[in-house]
Amino acid sequence: MRLLIMGPPGAGKGTQAMRIAEHYRIPAISTGDIFRAMKHADTPLARQVREIMESGGYVSDEITNEIVKDRLAKPDCQEGFLLDGYPRTLQQVQTLDDYLAETNRTLDAVISLLADTDEVVARLLKRAAIDGRTDDNDETIRVRLKVYAEQTEPLLDVYRSGGLLVEVNGLGEIDEVSERVFAALEAHRERQTI
Ligand code: AMP
Repeated sequence: MRLLIMGPPGAGKGTQAMRIAEHYRIPAISTGDIFRAMKHADTPLARQVREIMESGGYVSDEITNEIVKDRLAKPDCQEGFLLDGYPRTLQQVQTLDDYLAETNRTLDAVISLLADTDEVVARLLKRAAIDGRTDDNDETIRVRLKVYAEQTEPLLDVYRSGGLLVEVNGLGEIDEVSERVFAALEAHRERQTI
């Protein structure tokens, strides 16, 4: 299975991504996690990533695309993968499409986790208090939601028109949401094989 999971910050993508990856025995690749791990290094690139993340904006397409292409070339991705938090811009969509085409692969589905704004803001503030994530304060949360609405939400239409979008209600207990995702993916798979 080659999957993407999309949704606003705080929709529960990371949690669901881990469960979906385990279920289908594929690696979950989170660009947010990759950047969080990177930002502690003492290099110009790490400093740049740290500043961008703390402002709530997006890391450049150039850097992000290179990181993802390197990761997808690893042997554990040959049987499938789940990308969490990538692509986030139209240019990233294009790069991913081209890269998959070059390597004779296509996506099976794009999971869109739906959640309302009040709920995601409440979740992000709670996560900030628990994890101490520096990109989860009031100001950056607002910026991140705005950047998501402007730059990433339009990608859902691209995948919808490509017949890949699988929309799932992201509100509720974690297990309940996972079950919804699995059921929606199976229904999507059946539709594709008819
Ligand atoms: P996340 O954990 O997915 O919410 O990502 C945290 C932060 O990492 C984002 O707010 C961005 O600054 C950066 N980031 C993660 N994925 C991407 C991406 N695909 N493109 C650009 N920036 C990204």
